[in-house]
Amino acid sequence: MIDCVEVWPQLARVRVDSVKVEPELLLVRAVTKNVPRSCPGCGVAPRRVHSRHGRRVADERVGSRPVVIELSVRRLLRGNPGCGRVTFVEQVEALTERYQRRTPALRRPVETVAIALAGAAGARLLHPLGQQLSWTTVLNVLMRTPVPEPEEVPPVVGVDEFALLKGQKYATILTDAVTGRRLDVLVDREPATVTAWLKAPPGIRAVCRDGSNAFAKAITDAGRGIVQVADR
Ligand SMILES: [Zn+2]
Repeated sequence: MIDCVEVWPQLARVRVDSVKVEPELLLVRAVTKNVPRSCPGCGVAPRRVHSRHGRRVADERVGSRPVVIELSVRRLLRGNPGCGRVTFVEQVEALTERYQRRTPALRRPVETVAIALAGAAGARLLHPLGQQLSWTTVLNVLMRTPVPEPEEVPPVVGVDEFALLKGQKYATILTDAVTGRRLDVLVDREPATVTAWLKAPPGIRAVCRDGSNAFAKAITDAGRGIVQVADR
């Protein structure tokens, strides 16, 4: 017989009490082990348990069934009287994260879809992948996803427009003119929008643009002596 930890290595750090196969669901009941956990505030590991409570996290599906882990976790009482956190709830590596109702393994693909296709489109793609999320939930996932540290804006930036709806609605894309890396996408191609963007980051020395007057005006309005390079 296979030990369930071989199938679910993420359960190695907890004691699995039962695995129940239901028609629509695979339900794992587990309890955290009596191991020290460092306080996220001060790093001291408390010795005393304040209480236990159950939480549910969704995990990657097995076969056609979604997996739900019902986990009993400890609320620990601070071991350091000087710490501002009187109690804290333990987190289990690879299984639980603060404020998350999904395991990290499941959170990552859901976040990836939310970033690529926010809202209804994301929900539509997740559905056949076994994640029945509403479009508002997909948006919430997107809103909670940490924004990566902003990368430095290069000295030479390219600005171009592209059609969101041909002949009707245009957006602006800003790129690193040397590497082609996308820096930002702006909702329209209005000079004021582009000017506001060019004013924000320091260090832009030149902007490559098409022949349009709108971008020429935007760059001039941004001031700062930015050099304009126009192609035809
Ligand atoms: Zn502490």
